Amino acid sequence: MGPPGAGKGTQAGAIAEHYGIVTISTGQLFRDNIQLGTALGKQIESLIADGNLVPDEVTNQMVFQRLASPDVRKRGGFLLDGYPRTLEQVAALDAELVNQRRRLNAVVALMAEPTTLVDRLLQRAEIEGRADDNADSIRHRIDVYHAETAPLLDVYRDRDLLVEVDAIGEVPEVRRRITAALDAKLGRQS
Ligand code: ADP
Repeated sequence: MGPPGAGKGTQAGAIAEHYGIVTISTGQLFRDNIQLGTALGKQIESLIADGNLVPDEVTNQMVFQRLASPDVRKRGGFLLDGYPRTLEQVAALDAELVNQRRRLNAVVALMAEPTTLVDRLLQRAEIEGRADDNADSIRHRIDVYHAETAPLLDVYRDRDLLVEVDAIGEVPEVRRRITAALDAKLGRQS
């Protein structure tokens, strides 16, 4: 978890590789659908460009399908990148994990003051050209993060799953912080 621009997507791949698990990135799956012009892609394109969340039902269904797919099932575990992002998604995920006889071991929160991340996002806009990396959409995504997603930190802190990591620093340094904190949490050595 983390505010827009905290580095979730950047770190997720390396962390999943480190632990030999699969990444399920909702933002990336949505962008792939938009690029491929699927029915889902057409449905969500303008929502995402404007910095709104995709409806919970649509998001949950996409994640659960992926979680249940054979290539994910046969791997030892999974890393959810950008999901859950609302309290409704937390409840739906809880139920689905019970269904699938799986569970969360940890929730990594990349900690940064959202307003300090705006420059990172505007820089990314120049490199990646993401439709949602413009000033208006970024401002809105930060508001949505505060309203919808930040409350999840308390939920997972209360469950003793939360691992908070300072997201400000060079990419490899932040990655080391994450694996060190996760290894400590999971009780294994890197
Ligand atoms: P960022 O965190 O930088 O905004 P993401 O790639 O995680 O980037 O998300 C991009 C967009 O995809 C979000 O602004 C939202 O519209 C949509 N999205 C991603 N994950 C979710 C989710 N769990 N629930 C609803 N919408 C989501």
